[in-house]
Amino acid sequence: MPNRQIVLPASALVLLAVCTVLIAIFLLVPSFASRAIFAALVLIGVAFLIRYALLARIDYNEHQIESRADRNESAPESFELSKLLEATMSGMREGLLVVNRDMRVVASNNAAYRLFNPTPRRLESQRLTELTRNPAIYSAFLDALKGIERSGVKVETHGPERLVFDLRVVPLASTNGSGAEGALGVFFDITRIERLESVRQEFLSNVSHELRTPLTAILAFVETLETGAMEDQESNQRFLSIIRKNASRMHGLIDDILELTAIEGGNVQLRSAPIELHALVNEVVSSLATKAFANGIIITNSVAPEAVVHADARRLEQMLTNLIENGIKFNREKGQVTIRSESGARDKILVEDTGEGIPAQHLERLFERFYRVDRARSREMGGTGLGLAIVKHLALLHGGEVTVTSDLGKGSTFVIHLPHSG
Ligand code: ADP
Repeated sequence: MPNRQIVLPASALVLLAVCTVLIAIFLLVPSFASRAIFAALVLIGVAFLIRYALLARIDYNEHQIESRADRNESAPESFELSKLLEATMSGMREGLLVVNRDMRVVASNNAAYRLFNPTPRRLESQRLTELTRNPAIYSAFLDALKGIERSGVKVETHGPERLVFDLRVVPLASTNGSGAEGALGVFFDITRIERLESVRQEFLSNVSHELRTPLTAILAFVETLETGAMEDQESNQRFLSIIRKNASRMHGLIDDILELTAIEGGNVQLRSAPIELHALVNEVVSSLATKAFANGIIITNSVAPEAVVHADARRLEQMLTNLIENGIKFNREKGQVTIRSESGARDKILVEDTGEGIPAQHLERLFERFYRVDRARSREMGGTGLGLAIVKHLALLHGGEVTVTSDLGKGSTFVIHLPHSG
């Protein structure tokens, strides 16, 4: 432990002596008023003493810190400064690169190493031009060496994975004040932010587009009615039903958007419990019976009567409704939809159809929002293009997933995988 001795200035010692004398007088003085005055004086004296003591202690601590810094020592109870700096640099997600006046790297961290991904040589002592040919990086460091701070420089890498960085470079001033001795660059990884931003923009433009189409139709038919078609009994019924169809399409779209936003935003709470799958599938099939009948499709519930899965009943029903409805919509005339289940490390619910199938190049993107194989056909059938995205997110929420396989001309199989109920 360091010596924490407090050195009091001479004036404080004089004050201490005066206080002692005052206390002695206080004890000798008989009247109450005089005692009160003496007591007040003593209190003031003590307050001064405490203040001196505190100031002396602060001075002492500062002195200790300064002398440690002079000797390049660290406090015994704290980390060693160089180790702390090293740990901070290597733990940082941001790439850090320091170059000297000759544009040679003098310090870097792991993140910078990963960013430049050079041959397994160290970055240190390499020239910046050896690390990267990116002119934006080079000119930002060059400017910093001229004393100009640069920020918001967008840097993209085109390796196996496309990464986007926001680069900020600051000059490192020399101690003698003769301009910049070097430059320090920090590469902030904004790949995720960029991706989210582009997803958001794409989503907004899709939503606007999806809403505009039915809205345009509604406006056009209202205008037609207003300009005379109202009198024509036969056409006004037809126009009104077109208006209704488009309005309910907008309604369905908004419902699906809200639903998807709630699921993705984590605002849907699952109430998972063991479910008798055969009975649940029967309910879904009954609710879609009219649609199936209209399309001449036969739905078969081939789930074993004893099959049990662990899921949120309402949400599983929603997933199955979406998949079976698609099986009906995208089937051939007099086709079939069959629902089966398999128990294993993960429970599987399979929805098979005998439709036209899905070309392989579409399979990877099929669960993306608004992705359709045939946009016009989907719209014509009142689809929103969000059904499979909802299924995907609900499956993920259950700790499972949804997959698809398809045979062109023969049909498709969608599989909901759920954690095994045990
Ligand atoms: P929607 O059915 O509203 O168009 P979905 O998200 O449910 O939207 O489906 C996206 C697209 O995937 C559909 O437009 C269709 O092109 C394709 N699709 C989905 N299910 C099937 C299926 N069973 N057979 C063939 N294509 C399908």
